[in-house]
Amino acid sequence: MSFKDLDLIEPIQRALNVEGYEKPTPIQEQAIPIILNRKDLLGCAQTGTGKTAAFAIPILQLLHNEQSKETGARRIKTLILTPTRELAIQIGESFAAYGRYTKIKHTVIFGGVPQRAQIEALRSGVDILIATPGRLLDLMNQKFINLFSIRYFVLDEADRMLDMGFVNDVKKVIQRLPVQRQTLFFSATMPAEINKLANSILVNPLKVEVTPVSSTADTVDQLLYMVSKQDKRFLLVDLLQDPKIESALIFTRTKHGADRVARDLTKAGIRADAIHGNKSQNARQKALSNFKAKKIRVLVATDIAARGIDVDNLSHVINYDLPNIPETYVHRIGRTGRAGATGTAFSFCDEEEIKYLHDIHKLIARKISIVEDHQYPLVKGNYAGQERTKENRPNGRVSAPANRNKRNYTSKEIDIKKESHLREKSQNIEKLTLIKRN
Ligand code: AMP
Repeated sequence: MSFKDLDLIEPIQRALNVEGYEKPTPIQEQAIPIILNRKDLLGCAQTGTGKTAAFAIPILQLLHNEQSKETGARRIKTLILTPTRELAIQIGESFAAYGRYTKIKHTVIFGGVPQRAQIEALRSGVDILIATPGRLLDLMNQKFINLFSIRYFVLDEADRMLDMGFVNDVKKVIQRLPVQRQTLFFSATMPAEINKLANSILVNPLKVEVTPVSSTADTVDQLLYMVSKQDKRFLLVDLLQDPKIESALIFTRTKHGADRVARDLTKAGIRADAIHGNKSQNARQKALSNFKAKKIRVLVATDIAARGIDVDNLSHVINYDLPNIPETYVHRIGRTGRAGATGTAFSFCDEEEIKYLHDIHKLIARKISIVEDHQYPLVKGNYAGQERTKENRPNGRVSAPANRNKRNYTSKEIDIKKESHLREKSQNIEKLTLIKRN
């Protein structure tokens, strides 16, 4: 299915093109038609599945289509309640991106910052309000906000609201919403209390569900390389000497980074290409078909660009940069090891990325095994507590060999390295099995 099949209006189609979205994610495919049909929705999905666009796109479309009938001052017609400031900001950015060619206005409010700028934004008139519960109630109690005109209400991450102790605040907000409205309820899990809340506020909802993201991680061998930012490219070239890596999808966080990696690899004699939003549709298509046809062994991509691509028989995924959203890690590595095939995911982690690594470990409920025996270790020794900071590391970064640029392995050296790598890998897999929590 493509976005064209979803009957989206032209300004939104255009915005999705700019975003580089090629096809809807499963939750979008299911949820968008339901919402456009003005039905209540119960969505079981977590961050990383594309759920924000699943509700933002149809809401923008409904509001856009209704706008011509509006008279008088702009009133808040949509309320999105979300538990954290970060999520609120991200949702605001999504509305800005998908609604860039519409005249729909939105603003974001959350606690922990002065309220003045938020009040100013509200005064200037908005169609969509994205809020965390505490600040919303605060501003409602001070009469800066009323919710009389709300037609669309989204409760995002309901289970997290419960975890964070916001459920009573959420209930207070709901009591002040008009009864006549369309409600979209999203939660990654459905504990009893959340189910009860959902039943009490949804009217004949349709349910959409996408598989929990963390389960994909179980089918892939995952290995971690602690390496400094500067050494990542040398390590990558090193690893790619292994002919077992038949086809590798390499992820970088930025478009710039993707280009740089592809360039470095080409220089090192490894055929590679990069795809990302700044490349023309044609160039992306060409790189992808070359990769699929095995004309190039390595494709470097940003997360957004990689979303739309579907490649079978991918032997390796390499996280050149760790993603700052842990669910993205699971999505990335889920691209290998599909349909029972074995897949391997290598992840590079530099000092600044250790915090992302923690989040990933928390999500997948295990620690990724570390490969200590490689040419460019960040710090020798044990990373069991990867919390190590600059201050408590013994000697700072261990430099890579001075002649690293000129490194040319003899075939014997490569064999030895491969053997040791494989040995390490099988030990790591054993370790992984041992540390895997039930
Ligand atoms: P979310 O689950 O809403 O947090 O979305 C996760 C990420 O996926 C965000 O960075 C979105 O920009 C991106 N995204 C959402 N839908 C699509 C799509 N159809 N194609 C490509 N990227 C998408």
